Amino acid sequence: MIYTDTRDKTVKTDFRTAVMNGMNSKTGGLYIPVSYPKLDSSFINKNPAPTFREIALRMALPYVESEISVNELTGIIEDAYPFSPKIVPLDSITYVLELFHGPTCAFKDFGARFMARVMSYFNRSENGRLHILVATSGDTGSAVGSAFHNVPGLDVTILYPDGKVSLLQEKQLSTFTGNVQALKIQGTFDDCQKLVKTAFTDDELRKTLRLSSANSINIARLLPQSFYYMYSALTVRDRCALDNKIDNPSIVMVVPSGNFGNLTSGLIAREMGAPIEGFVAATNTNRTIPDWIATGNYKARPSIETYANAMDVGAPSNFERIAAMYTLEQVRHLFASYWLDNDGIIKAIKSCYDRTGYIIDPHGSIGWKAWDDIRSGSMENLIGGLSCSYEKPGLTPNIPDWAQKVVGKKSVGILLETADPAKFGSTVSSAIGREPSIPSRLAEVLKLEDHAVPMKNDYQLFKTWLLDNRHK
Ligand SMILES: *Cc1c(COP(=O)(O)O)cnc(C)c1O
Repeated sequence: MIYTDTRDKTVKTDFRTAVMNGMNSKTGGLYIPVSYPKLDSSFINKNPAPTFREIALRMALPYVESEISVNELTGIIEDAYPFSPKIVPLDSITYVLELFHGPTCAFKDFGARFMARVMSYFNRSENGRLHILVATSGDTGSAVGSAFHNVPGLDVTILYPDGKVSLLQEKQLSTFTGNVQALKIQGTFDDCQKLVKTAFTDDELRKTLRLSSANSINIARLLPQSFYYMYSALTVRDRCALDNKIDNPSIVMVVPSGNFGNLTSGLIAREMGAPIEGFVAATNTNRTIPDWIATGNYKARPSIETYANAMDVGAPSNFERIAAMYTLEQVRHLFASYWLDNDGIIKAIKSCYDRTGYIIDPHGSIGWKAWDDIRSGSMENLIGGLSCSYEKPGLTPNIPDWAQKVVGKKSVGILLETADPAKFGSTVSSAIGREPSIPSRLAEVLKLEDHAVPMKNDYQLFKTWLLDNRHK
């Protein structure tokens, strides 16, 4: 596969370069493959549907071909995914796609674990260890730390702001031993990010340490997220014969979104032939993308804190990829968009629980409410000419191509549940009056000893620490 750049289509490079560089520092653009090869229809129409790992291998192959052998790739996938996504029906036309069964209980495990193993593979033919620096305000750091833990040839240093992450988040960042170390910085998240950025531009440091980053714009985090879209669409299509008897259902993916990496992966799966008819872009008050779809103006803005805090993104980095793949008009044919404020999030968690008994997390709750509104009148109202304001919570005024099918009861919704509700226990309990049960791997981490090294917000201290503590 050849990879190009969102800002300069004359750029042509290979997978290895795209992964190891993360982004193109010359243009500031993001890497994207030049094409999205369709899977064979015999594979897509297999009955019963292929397993998650079969799908992962098929979908990954064209993007790594000639750079990673089938054998190596099979090993990477087996090692990355000892867990699978789960599909839970809520009612006859609503399915939850649970993406939180990995080690850190959030969907980012799917991308981060694949990326870690691909980087380790490419690093084998380099001289020396690769050192990943990551600044985090919470969730990304734990997924990256966990994904790289004990992966050969790689070291990770996580920087997080002291006193500004939750107890559970801190435990998920600070209790690693071996090749993953954490520094708790006496400062803000922005201070942490600045220390990392300064390190990347420090030529003297880079003579001794080979540095890399692991942020969410890396193409090796995006591609593997497409696997579960294909898997869930094929599996749900099979189940419909029993669950609702809808022939050839129109499948709508409802995606709680922040940086829009997850939704972009869904677009890749659709391009590769997944039977997905459309998407709902569901956000919190950080409604940059719903506003863009409604008005045609893309306006990045500072982020606003919400209960769905992993989606507190005012300048979604993958907008650039979506805009490189589709025109605004095409997006409007494919997407509905929907947003909720904090009050709406609490009500949505409660209504999901009251009506179905399912405990949903604050991020997933926006998807639940979006789908519930869309299928029970909001979309019909839009088609009927009733206007709605994009500045108010709820559905924004855009009628996608699949709208008529939802109204005609020919659609099913797959709601992506991006985190275990136990990670947001206090918000969930304020909505439904009880705490979600804690999975054992979260309970275990709470018992582990904290190994984070406290550090002043000072670049010289940070640099000296990196040099003194490096693994050889
Ligand atoms: C990161 C995250 C999101 C947002 O995903 P994007 O790919 O940034 O859109 C949603 N929910 C949870 C729990 C997350 O951790």
